[in-house]
Amino acid sequence: MEEHDHRKLGQELDLFTFSDLVGPGLPLWTPRGTIVREELDKFVWELRSKHGYERVAIPHITKRELYEKSGHWDKFADDLFKITSREGRQYALKPMNCPHHTQIFARKPMSYREMPQRYAETTMVYRDEQSGELGGLTRVLSITQDDAHVFCREQQMHDEFAIIWDIVGQFYGTFGFSLRVRLSLHDPATPEKYLGSPERWATAEQTLRDIAKEKNADTFDGIGEANFYGPKVDFMATDSLGRQHQVATIQLDMNLPERFDLVCINEKGERERIVMIHAAITGSLERCSAVLLEHLGGNLPTWLSPVQAKVLAIADTHQPFAKDILGALKEAGIRAELDTSGDTLGKKIREAKTMKIPYLLVVGDQEVADKTATLEGRAGKIGALPIADIVAKLKDEITRRV
Ligand SMILES: [Zn+2]
Repeated sequence: MEEHDHRKLGQELDLFTFSDLVGPGLPLWTPRGTIVREELDKFVWELRSKHGYERVAIPHITKRELYEKSGHWDKFADDLFKITSREGRQYALKPMNCPHHTQIFARKPMSYREMPQRYAETTMVYRDEQSGELGGLTRVLSITQDDAHVFCREQQMHDEFAIIWDIVGQFYGTFGFSLRVRLSLHDPATPEKYLGSPERWATAEQTLRDIAKEKNADTFDGIGEANFYGPKVDFMATDSLGRQHQVATIQLDMNLPERFDLVCINEKGERERIVMIHAAITGSLERCSAVLLEHLGGNLPTWLSPVQAKVLAIADTHQPFAKDILGALKEAGIRAELDTSGDTLGKKIREAKTMKIPYLLVVGDQEVADKTATLEGRAGKIGALPIADIVAKLKDEITRRV
């Protein structure tokens, strides 16, 4: 359906743009679009911070040696943007954050008492896609990941997976997606394709099955869908148009801890090999925005809308009171605008509806006299309400993310 195309919606709602000078696949986010990105990220961070995640920050480039050690220099060779410094040193733009994050973990010996370490960061990664494949937000060269890596002991894997599973469920549940879960397992017919002992694989895969059962999840097996370095859980969301999107992944990684020799010192004072879990909740903010725009037909919930309320005065004489209302909304932290054009009310309403603004507050003679505004939501007119009641209603809806 064309009206659900996120490229069209993104332009109509003024969320993002592309420039020939900057290049295809490199979206530029407008002030409105940036609000959507930040609100999504804030939501994920709220969910994560409750569970002991900590923020980290890394540079966008690295010396070649990091990716040689991680294996990405070979494996990702065609997708890497490479940079040569004036002294001839080779760097690369990061296509993922995990190798950098391992070096934060490795900065000092970690006691088992400090485990797990949970690092989260929302940052862009860069992958060199062929320009023929680029379009909209679904194939881009600059990808914003809400990335997280958990460094934990094998016996902590269960709880860490379960935490991320809950976060994924809460995040997508908010938007009304139903989730199916693919347990991406190794193929026992080709053991040589996988890193790590069969016992470790058996333990890891059984852990995933246990959690799926505990969560009462709608799961199916993907035999042979595992990464070579560990099994994973892929969450598939069905949108309002009945299409299925792969939205979030939790991956177990037994490879990078080997390559970077990541250990903790256990209760016996021994070096104990740890495991890593990669967990992006939105997948990428670009793809997540595209999926959400199409799923919701552009009708973002109030908490996520760049403009949450618009005040419309019927005539110029009502503008001073309309301005007072705008002040009250802003004071309460609601993103509001006032239409100051001399257009007719009909035109003002049409314009606000094209921008899919969730709430309109109309002000005329009666409203000025009663100190009210006539509130209109997406479903239709709600009625004349005191300003304080409107503020309270919107605040409640925003806080609860309904
Ligand atoms: Zn990762």
